[in-house]
Amino acid sequence: MSDKYAVIGNPVEHSFSPAIHAAFAAATGQDISYGKILAPLDGFGAAILKFRDGGGSGLNVTLPFKHEAWNLSEAQGMAIDANAVNTLKFERGRILGYNTDGIGLVRDLKDNLRLVLEDQRVLVMGAGGATYGVVEPLLRERAQVTIVNRTLDKAQQLVRHFQAITGIATRSIAWQSYDRLHDDRFDIVINATSAGLTDDMPPLPEGIFAGDALAYDMVYGKSTPFLEFAAAREARTADGLGMLVEQAAESFYIWRGVRPDTAPVIRALRMKAEG
Ligand code: NAP
Repeated sequence: MSDKYAVIGNPVEHSFSPAIHAAFAAATGQDISYGKILAPLDGFGAAILKFRDGGGSGLNVTLPFKHEAWNLSEAQGMAIDANAVNTLKFERGRILGYNTDGIGLVRDLKDNLRLVLEDQRVLVMGAGGATYGVVEPLLRERAQVTIVNRTLDKAQQLVRHFQAITGIATRSIAWQSYDRLHDDRFDIVINATSAGLTDDMPPLPEGIFAGDALAYDMVYGKSTPFLEFAAAREARTADGLGMLVEQAAESFYIWRGVRPDTAPVIRALRMKAEG
């Protein structure tokens, strides 16, 4: 019988993860099944135990359960300080928790988009689960990270959290409010808010992009007001599809010990998304 995996969230219907993992399994000859689980908002813990006790081997966790997954698992590696888990592995009665979002973003920026991150001024908009997941990997690449968020105290809290972690260059992370951004220029501007999902746009000033800057929206499969704003100001643009596939590849590696080739899967999904 195939080893069982799934993505769990609420909502989860829109998820590309089953298609991505099916493509990885076919390409690497791994015998797995991968489904979708819609968990009730108050029933995440029960849903993961039911899946595990039914023979499940691992889960990808999506909105809004990444923090709950962190609470319910033994966090490993960069998940420890991310306070968020997007990959669960069931192993001999233990529930191991990983965060592959940050690795996914960094691989997309470096390997697919061919950027150098060292000393780059990176603005990350948002202070939710996605931002917590990507900050440590960006700092480890020696990027200069600024966090901006609609609710300012959440940005401040996030910055304090990462500054308290030993081993990271604490002077490389700072917070700012949207209305004080007018004099700043950034080489990479990452939209880690959910604003694009509702066709909203964080209140960025006109001159936010340095020359040859990249605007990156973690939302995928659709254009967003942020990417349109950036394109109109001659910044390069990228959506979050590459990050999605790269984070999935890292989950697949954690589960199966095999690293799939991501480029053909990104190409195929891009063609599908563009219809
Ligand atoms: P979250 O925890 O709900 O956080 C949402 C963030 O967006 C908060 O900081 C919130 O600000 C901000 N926000 C929402 N609407 C806004 C608006 N109109 N203007 C300005 N800020 C706004 O969500 P998350 O888990 O961090 O996920 C964020 C996005 O990243 C989602 O769209 C998710 O799908 C995407 N994502 C993509 C990938 C990928 O692989 N491509 C991976 C992870 C996440 P407040 O604090 O003020 O409410």
